[in-house]
Amino acid sequence: MIKGFGNNKLGCHALVWVGGWSNEECETAIANTKAAGYDLIEMVALDPTKLDTSFTRDTLQKHGVEGTCSLGLGETNDINSEDMTKVKKGEETLLGALKFVEGVGGKFLGGVIHSALRKYPEETTTKARANSVSVIKQIAKEAQKSGITIALEPVNRYETNLLNTAQQTIDFINDVGEPNVTVHLDVYHCNIEEDGYRNPILACGDRLGYVHIGESHRGYLGTGTIDFAKFFDALAEVDYGGYITFESFSSAVVDPKLSMMLGIWRNLWSDSMDLAVKAREFMQNSISQARQTA
Ligand code: MN
Repeated sequence: MIKGFGNNKLGCHALVWVGGWSNEECETAIANTKAAGYDLIEMVALDPTKLDTSFTRDTLQKHGVEGTCSLGLGETNDINSEDMTKVKKGEETLLGALKFVEGVGGKFLGGVIHSALRKYPEETTTKARANSVSVIKQIAKEAQKSGITIALEPVNRYETNLLNTAQQTIDFINDVGEPNVTVHLDVYHCNIEEDGYRNPILACGDRLGYVHIGESHRGYLGTGTIDFAKFFDALAEVDYGGYITFESFSSAVVDPKLSMMLGIWRNLWSDSMDLAVKAREFMQNSISQARQTA
């Protein structure tokens, strides 16, 4: 984990701005991320073959914005499966995403890369989990060559059957056994699955590699039920100095695949810039307050 709470780089998820990644959308999203005062943008690589690596790299450089990347696997490329055709396809997707991150000069690949991002109709199996461990190990080894950190995001039970909590993710990372695999913790999912915000962060400790900040309804920060002070206090306690990225979704901006999988049926905001600027201010205030109480 990067140490030094208070020096965290702040990120904004691409879905705050755009639902796809044409060159025009890429330019809009990166320019707006900069204008809203962020250090980095988290891009979505559901299908890495559709992303223009060199255009993205040039646009990031032009605006002085860092790029990170996340994705969720789907039903046909699920590495948390006993079907080796799906596992192989998932491995290809992840290698493609890794190549994209490397190509745009990014240092991080995260999200629901351990399984499909969907409501499973049954529990995972020992064999399916072992397949996921094995692919993540390979991806991690490949990532080491270019100094990229892999982070696995535990998400709520309606979005995966494999990793719902921080502790399950740490157990999984221990089985993978590679030094560049970390936990990608999202306060929105902690709110659903954990006993609070302090224990999961303390359980991760040095293995916390990335953080998502989202409200309980995925809209404006501070207008839902999440106790952000407790979450940020715990980040201060472990001296987390890594990326903190704002993630929010509304029916106003739609990625045809991702938004449907996440169940984004309501319009929680329509002014992306207002949302993003207020979120950055909210996160900066939360960090300052947590530093004062630490
Ligand atoms: Mn998230």
